[in-house]
Amino acid sequence: MYNLESIEQRLAEQGYRITPSRLAVVEATLEHSGHFSVDDILGRLPGVGRATVFRTMKLLSQMGILCRVLLENGSLRYRVSHRRDHHHHLVCVSCGSVEELDACIAAGAIDNLARSTGYDIEGHWLEFYGRCGPCRSGEA
Ligand SMILES: [Zn+2]
Ligand SMILES: [Zn+2]
Ligand SMILES: [Zn+2]
Repeated sequence: MYNLESIEQRLAEQGYRITPSRLAVVEATLEHSGHFSVDDILGRLPGVGRATVFRTMKLLSQMGILCRVLLENGSLRYRVSHRRDHHHHLVCVSCGSVEELDACIAAGAIDNLARSTGYDIEGHWLEFYGRCGPCRSGEA
């Protein structure tokens, strides 16, 4: 879906300096099919500093290449995003799989909230936790 060259090109177009460390971080994140933490990436790249890992992952999030997933236990993870725009996740508490939802199902509720409170609402975060189909069918 994403390859190193296309991301490298996008970084360059946006005026970011492509360093070997930064590229190593991009490469390490793309290798993950599931979700991962900053520490997971750090553990795989012993020669790269924490600040570089953190900054690069933040940059990839801003570009929509990575998205952040809040797990049920409150810890924050990253994953390679399948959607570039705003979306929500279904998180299986049993196997840890994550699905991305097609559309923002909160849009109507946010309009109502804005009207009733007078707020100009700029953002929201909503994740869903449960058990996925395969985990449920494994239950006797
Ligand atoms: Zn996502
Ligand atoms: Zn599951
Ligand atoms: Zn939404």
